[in-house]
Amino acid sequence: MSSKHVVITGGAGFIGSHLCQRYLNEGWSVTAIDNFHTGQERNVLPFKSNPKFKFIKHDITIPLQENISCDLILNFACPASPVHYQSDAIWTMKTNVYGTINMLDLAKKSKARFFQASTSEVYGDPKIHPQPESYWGNVNCTGIRSCYDEGKRAAETLCFDYNRQHGVDIRVIRIFNTYGPQMALDDGRVVSNFLVQALKGETLTMYGDGKQTRSFCYVEDLVNGIYQFSQLEGHIGPINLGNDGEFTMLELAEIILKKTGSKSKMSFMPLPADDPKVRKPDLTKTKSVLSGWSPRIKLEEGIERSIPYFRDAVARL
Ligand code: UDP
Repeated sequence: MSSKHVVITGGAGFIGSHLCQRYLNEGWSVTAIDNFHTGQERNVLPFKSNPKFKFIKHDITIPLQENISCDLILNFACPASPVHYQSDAIWTMKTNVYGTINMLDLAKKSKARFFQASTSEVYGDPKIHPQPESYWGNVNCTGIRSCYDEGKRAAETLCFDYNRQHGVDIRVIRIFNTYGPQMALDDGRVVSNFLVQALKGETLTMYGDGKQTRSFCYVEDLVNGIYQFSQLEGHIGPINLGNDGEFTMLELAEIILKKTGSKSKMSFMPLPADDPKVRKPDLTKTKSVLSGWSPRIKLEEGIERSIPYFRDAVARL
């Protein structure tokens, strides 16, 4: 029997490349699509000799020319770090709207399941803490984060409308801050910035007073949840996926300094506009939908597991 076929947009990205590995391990044929805007070719090089792996360099804001038939589409293409998604804000919005429409059309044509990587950013700067899926969010529609926050909200809307109007079988997850090996060193998000700075002996760039909070999920826990939900019948989401341990950025910096043994100091810089003050997933619904799933890797352990990758990558700079 031929294996099932998954198309992964953003397949050369941080989470996308972990997904390529996981679906190949599970016996799937994998087609990764990426335009290398933030994805890195080195993330997919290990799979290129695998006959079940195919790579297409393509920007999903343009419809695909290839005639692809598949069972599942994982839509992960979009820069996710504020620095990168703000660098071409209009293209970020296009990726979320045109890109999602193009891939939903492919799902409709292929009769494939469509799995959307949404984000905790749909909650904006939340007034409810922790955030359950039923919370509609507190999002600025004209700010510098809006291209991503509103783009991802529009993408969710498109998924639910393709489901209602065309019967496309959808799954929607809201991903909270995730970290681990394969992150780009210049990703710009806090975990990779602090790790790179600590390992290079540079000053840690702390935005604001460092008392804002985030909840950090190790990539392996996230990928386990994604794989399980992509196979699950009877629930379309949205469900939160992440780790519900909550840390201030000051606490994160302390853990990173301790685990790397770095003597780096911190410098305090202005807080970027619209930076959410708190963020933590309410995982009640997720745990009832995904039986047996919960985030297993605590922040200290995840940082420890990530250090060898970052140490190697920094040494190669
Ligand atoms: N942050 C920081 N220093 C950095 C990068 C980020 O203090 O070098 C802060 C940022 O202002 C935010 C938190 O860390 O409050 C998480 O930022 P990140 O860009 O990782 O993700 P997001 O804001 O999208 O959750």
